[in-house]
Amino acid sequence: MSKEILTIEKLCVKIGEKEILKGLDLSVCEGETHVIMGPNGAGKSTLGNTLMGKPEYEVTSGNITFMGEDLLAMTTDERARKGLFMSFQNPVEVPGVRLSEFVRNTCEAMGEKMSLWNFKKAAAEQMKVLNMDKTYLDRELNVGFSGGEKKKAEIFQLLMLKPALAILDETDSGLDVDAVRTVSEGVKAYQEQTGGSLIIITHSTRILESLKVDRVHVIAEGTVIAEGDSSLVDEINENGFEKYIGK
Ligand code: ADP
Ligand code: MG
Repeated sequence: MSKEILTIEKLCVKIGEKEILKGLDLSVCEGETHVIMGPNGAGKSTLGNTLMGKPEYEVTSGNITFMGEDLLAMTTDERARKGLFMSFQNPVEVPGVRLSEFVRNTCEAMGEKMSLWNFKKAAAEQMKVLNMDKTYLDRELNVGFSGGEKKKAEIFQLLMLKPALAILDETDSGLDVDAVRTVSEGVKAYQEQTGGSLIIITHSTRILESLKVDRVHVIAEGTVIAEGDSSLVDEINENGFEKYIGK
């Protein structure tokens, strides 16, 4: 049996006075890919943001164990250094910092020191997977990037940083067919190259087509209301969430 990398137990999360997650349980083993679906406003991004330690998300009760340690006791920075990565729904622009500097510094912060030569070589290989032009490395992070370019830049970071667990929050939304395919190829390369774990939050099946999916969870009303294997994705796309909600 493989090792549990993430264990969430009875998680309750509030934003301001509003209770969003109400006793959510979820666990992920090493190398597994989990999909999270659920209606808009269900709390999917809240779960991701809570895992990353965003300050507005107040954990009122429950436990989260990541790689055998208490995640809630760690700062956001410590979480990232321990190998937790999140691709956000709206990536921020960072004027004045080139993509190459950003990724190289983050690799170093995570303990992977590389010569500039080796960094450039590794970067060129991963950019090939993502059909990215090498000139991206010299552009300021996300500044003037199109939606598709931002997402590719995030998957590029995923491939360079090789985190133990990556959370992708609707990385495929708003992308054209070719961009979704490229992003999906990048995520597949992450699965194959690193054996890392994934939590993919998505509404569509397209990003999942070439990926191995171990488990699907449906979140609504602050908790997991249905679980199953990858066939649950198709079932929900066909019939909607209704039959699971309010049960
Ligand atoms: P999902 O990602 O499933 O669509 P979210 O987790 O983004 O849902 O949101 C869940 C609920 O929490 C929504 O009602 C949303 O308005 C609220 N919410 C999320 N983030 C914030 C925030 N930073 N401030 C206030 N309300 C928020
Ligand atoms: Mg969301």
